[in-house]
Amino acid sequence: MSLEREQLEVDVLIVGAGPAGLSTALQLRKLISRHNRDVEPGVQPGTPMEPSILVVEKGAEVGAHSLSGAVVDPRGFNELLDGLSDEAPPYEAPVSEDRVHFLTSRHEFKLPVTPPPLRNHGHYVASLGRLVRWLGNLCELHEIEVYPGFPAAELLFDGPHVRGARIGDSGVGRDGEPKSNYEPGIEVIAKVTVLAEGVRGTLAQQAIRRLDLSRQREPQIYSVGVKELWEAGRDIPPGLVLHTLGYPVDSEDFGGGFLYSMRENRLALGLVVGLDSPHPSNDAHLLLQRWKTHALIRPYLEGGKLVSYGAKALPEGGYWAMPQTYADGLIIVGDSAGFLNSQRLKGIHLAVKSGILAAETIFDALKSNDFSSQSLSAYQKRFARSWASRELYRVRNFRQGFQAGAVPGFLRAGLQFLTGGRGIRHRLSISPGYECMKRISGTSGPVAQESLEFDKVLTFDKLTSVYYSDTSHEEDQPSHLKVLEPSICDTRCGEEYGNPCQHFCPAGVYEILSETKTGRLRINFSNCVHCKTCEIADPYQVILWTPPEGGGGPNWKQM
Ligand code: SF4
Repeated sequence: MSLEREQLEVDVLIVGAGPAGLSTALQLRKLISRHNRDVEPGVQPGTPMEPSILVVEKGAEVGAHSLSGAVVDPRGFNELLDGLSDEAPPYEAPVSEDRVHFLTSRHEFKLPVTPPPLRNHGHYVASLGRLVRWLGNLCELHEIEVYPGFPAAELLFDGPHVRGARIGDSGVGRDGEPKSNYEPGIEVIAKVTVLAEGVRGTLAQQAIRRLDLSRQREPQIYSVGVKELWEAGRDIPPGLVLHTLGYPVDSEDFGGGFLYSMRENRLALGLVVGLDSPHPSNDAHLLLQRWKTHALIRPYLEGGKLVSYGAKALPEGGYWAMPQTYADGLIIVGDSAGFLNSQRLKGIHLAVKSGILAAETIFDALKSNDFSSQSLSAYQKRFARSWASRELYRVRNFRQGFQAGAVPGFLRAGLQFLTGGRGIRHRLSISPGYECMKRISGTSGPVAQESLEFDKVLTFDKLTSVYYSDTSHEEDQPSHLKVLEPSICDTRCGEEYGNPCQHFCPAGVYEILSETKTGRLRINFSNCVHCKTCEIADPYQVILWTPPEGGGGPNWKQM
């Protein structure tokens, strides 16, 4: 459809209102206010600045797509809030107890000593949804414009120069034709566009591919985290941080469980499972249900009730997998750029720090009116000098070490700990996760497919879980999940991998039917919880996740 689109011009466009995007906006506002305060009374030479900053967010409201339950290292927030807010972030509780257990199907062994990366003294249990909503309110207080329900669909280029983003159209029918409420998405033209879309951002992927920003980097590898929020049926003091290793995650896979206690007897719990699994039947949702039945976990949940469910991929490739984080008119922050420490299971403090560093760089660019790649490369240099870079460098080979399985992974992690992150090699090479999936004939068995009866009290089938994610999409719109070569699903994929999409999608979006005229694959796109697993794990790389109509997706509770 060729049409004239409305254009909106701003100085700084930030795509995504998560911790990284909102931190970028807030830090920039702080720097501008300080500058103006100094300049106005003539203390410093220069002129006051009033750049326009716009944050666009695909969720129906700020925080709707931020999946709750996290342990936060406060370092990032401490830096961000200095001079910005006298209020502390709404953490749930300081961590009061750290425990790590190794599980077999019937037994559990508490590790006598908590491994140093999992020690959380001085950190806080938090609800990410609540933190993000709080940051959104701070933005409002500081007069930063945030537009929720605005999904950025396409990065706009002028040659290699990024000149903004196009917002997705709304009111397009399932058949691709405009409906009576059709609204073409506007083009937001910006001097600098900051991509803070979270993991595997659509625009970040466009930039990385078109500008070759991942050249000479290791491939990004991922896990998926499936999470639930519960109201416990008994008193559990807030601040407990419990991690598990082993059961039910297969020894060839990376992963483990977590349970954090929050105020008012609420529990955030979940399972992280590598998406570089050799098993085509890898099913994180099913594994989470199995994990909850373990004798260590079950007692926390008995008498309680499920409140919310969600899933999200995690970028775990670390230091060597981070793309070039800048280009002409472009900066990439947070999970979109791989700011995550998979050894400490933490990324929020790094996302906030990346936003701070991006804002400092943009502030200088605004002063010099230079948004070239050379000018914005100062962001990468700032990162290289920062504690964030030192932290990620110390664990630079951690996640890669697990691609051969849990036992070699732990041995390598021990060696890396003793050698400042090096281990056996300065830079461990890895394969993209989808290349690790073995064909059906070569697997050691359908690990995640043993039957489990869902009692809908402790354990839930995928559709019931989706109900608890409060996910909704306009039904009369084109599917936002594009299978680029659907014939593969009916032929090669079934034979070679047994259609793994029906297992790895934690929301039951992909269904394989018996023969129909239109093929065997049915895509229930309205159930999609936006975790991005399918785009990552599909062994043929023919699934493309695109942003659906504005406001669609999960609505994770603030809990
Ligand atoms: Fe996740 Fe893809 Fe399933 Fe959506 S369709 S829930 S992005 S795996």
